[in-house]
Amino acid sequence: MNNSWEDNVRRVVPYVPGEQPKETDVIKLNTNENPYPPAPEVRAILDSFDESRMRLYPTPDAAELTDAIAERYGLKSSQVFVGVGSDDVISMAFLTFFNSDKPVLFPDITYSFYDVWADVYRIPYQTKPLRADLTIDPADYKCENGGIIFPNPNAPTGVYESVEMIEDIVKANPDSVVMIDEAYIDFGGESCLPLIEKYDNLLVIQTFSKSRSMAGMRIGFAMGCEKLIKYMNDVKFSINSYTMNTVTQVCGAAAVRDEKYFRDTVQKIIDTREYSKKKLSELGFMFPDSMSNFIFASPHKKSAEYVFTELKKRRIFVRWWDKPIVRDYLRISVGTREEMDKLFAALEEIING
Ligand code: PMP
Repeated sequence: MNNSWEDNVRRVVPYVPGEQPKETDVIKLNTNENPYPPAPEVRAILDSFDESRMRLYPTPDAAELTDAIAERYGLKSSQVFVGVGSDDVISMAFLTFFNSDKPVLFPDITYSFYDVWADVYRIPYQTKPLRADLTIDPADYKCENGGIIFPNPNAPTGVYESVEMIEDIVKANPDSVVMIDEAYIDFGGESCLPLIEKYDNLLVIQTFSKSRSMAGMRIGFAMGCEKLIKYMNDVKFSINSYTMNTVTQVCGAAAVRDEKYFRDTVQKIIDTREYSKKKLSELGFMFPDSMSNFIFASPHKKSAEYVFTELKKRRIFVRWWDKPIVRDYLRISVGTREEMDKLFAALEEIING
């Protein structure tokens, strides 16, 4: 029996993140983390950090980090909003901009946190099916709506959409905020960031979790016109001013300043991804072309669930969802070349052995 106070509980079905196994001797290809360490300067900062700075509150606008991001992307600091991972940034953006009775639109196969935020904030939403080739049909996003969001490249498909296609959607929706979640854009796609100078309804969201190897630090950011960023900060400062701690701010700023390390690391992952596509094809996998740090691949010869379970027995973690359409696929993060070779040896045994 329920207690009566439970009638008033804000009930939600929470988002389920990928498993973080306690063991360290596993090959972890299930949460799209970067297999390489963060920029070397991050280590140096942690070694010499003056702990007396912890006595003080952090700067509420995370100025050092915001300024470093603004400089890297050629923007004013007032065009950048930072948060505790892009999950925090997207959640704040939902709360700030998706405040209409009309439904927010996003694809039916996409980041599975969007419907959770919509539910928790009581935002109406409608999903739009992907085409058979897993691309987004822009025509689906030209109807009345309370806002639009999708990742580019999409997750978990890895499919990239052109800047022209995004501009088409942004242009057709001057009365809504359009959010493009560019969590994986650094792995080969072209960012739609330049469009923020032309469209005041476009918010571009990125993260340090993938291309900058800092998922554990929790840094995400949004870029848009000054008005959008001001509205987001107003909401943020109405909930919790000090979301980002001082150590994270300083380490994040150092990471974003090391452009060479960033480019080298991203290139290694792109090279391994392209090598992995060849290997997966040889093993009979089917997959849409990926421009991210993961490949969404269907084993074809055996069920995805079977392959997922067999890999896990061999201490190799990939991601599998027991949901329509996607249950035929595995989402495999791109690790180091050595990790991927161990994966392919295991797959050879599971599929052809
Ligand atoms: N957007 C997409 C599409 C993602 O896959 C992820 C990673 N789970 C995120 C946002 C959130 O990443 P983070 O909070 O680590 O920045």
